[in-house]
Amino acid sequence: MNMQLPIYMDHNATTPVDPRVFEAMRPYFLEVFGNAASRGHSFGWEAEAAVDKARQQVAALLNARPDAIVWTSGATEANNLAVKGIADAAWHRGRHLITQVTEHKAVLDCCKRMARHGCDLTFLPVDRFGRIDLNQLRDSIRTDTILVSIMWANNEIGTIQEIRQIGQLCRERGVVFHTDATQAVGKVPIDVEADNIDLLSLSGHKFYGPKGCGCLFVRNKPAKIDLTPLLDGGGHERGYRSGTLNVPGIVGVGAACELAKNEMPGEIPRLRTLRDRLQAGIMNAVPGVLVNGYEPNRLPHMTNLSFEGVDHDELLAALFGIAVSSGSACTSASLEPSYVLSALGLPERLAFPSLRFALGKRNTATEVDFVIDRLSHAVGRLRGV
Ligand SMILES: *Cc1c(COP(=O)(O)O)cnc(C)c1O
Repeated sequence: MNMQLPIYMDHNATTPVDPRVFEAMRPYFLEVFGNAASRGHSFGWEAEAAVDKARQQVAALLNARPDAIVWTSGATEANNLAVKGIADAAWHRGRHLITQVTEHKAVLDCCKRMARHGCDLTFLPVDRFGRIDLNQLRDSIRTDTILVSIMWANNEIGTIQEIRQIGQLCRERGVVFHTDATQAVGKVPIDVEADNIDLLSLSGHKFYGPKGCGCLFVRNKPAKIDLTPLLDGGGHERGYRSGTLNVPGIVGVGAACELAKNEMPGEIPRLRTLRDRLQAGIMNAVPGVLVNGYEPNRLPHMTNLSFEGVDHDELLAALFGIAVSSGSACTSASLEPSYVLSALGLPERLAFPSLRFALGKRNTATEVDFVIDRLSHAVGRLRGV
């Protein structure tokens, strides 16, 4: 059995950089180190050419125009730029924002801050599977609504929203539609045209690219979205985001997008099969397990399970050597149950003993079987059976 501990099954928190991505980035630290904004010499031109290539690689994955990609430091910044940028730019047209209760904090807390500055917020609730109700969204849109921000797929439970229909609704009502697609990129097909998307956030490190680099897609055809920048300065990125470009990071995000585009058709079914094996294996071995999320339409590589009657800390301790997440990584330091699981209506006794298993490229069936075995023994012991 060629298997090593610890086993990493926390790929929604972050992923390792793919070695091919790393090799693509390497020259841009060492040799091709120019500033992509230096117009007067070949060092700058080479860096700019690399950034342009990466723009095309990202655009190809999203079916976007390359000049609609705005590089950022990741999805947190992209979400901030989307929400705050629209709120500011549309200030004299309207101040109503619509989002949902299970968004990532990077969207929720932006909206809350804008509320302190005078915006009006609607937080759509979700059903017990984590889905918003399209009719409720339709009824929430007002004449002063300036933005709808609904994430593509939830990072904790994997539930996928009906993005295309939401986009269409927003388009019919003339409201800008932003989606945080950080967890969806590389997992599900994305087409900003067919899916009616105006703004889309992504982050390299969630799909085998580098940390600290991502982008915001900002629609510029047929109409340019009016967005106030967060960062003023040299006017980089067509004025949307000043600051010297992170050329190696950008090259890495581009390479990761190209790999995702080429390898999704083979890798996604493999991960789905492994995930199904993991979930079924656990549920067969352990009674009282509940699946959190919408099984008919959720991310293919992950599952979130609640273990009724088991102490949360003891559960984590029993899984020593297996890296999984309980609740969201961002909130697991606090003693609150996950706000996402609470939003599903899950009582604390089910929300606390929950685990998120998120598989990735390097996970094998051997590892999955080891985790099933370990978990079934641990839960049996902890329940005292
Ligand atoms: C990880 C994550 C983010 C934050 O991305 P960073 O690039 O790490 O800032 C935002 N939204 C979702 C859904 C995420 O999973």
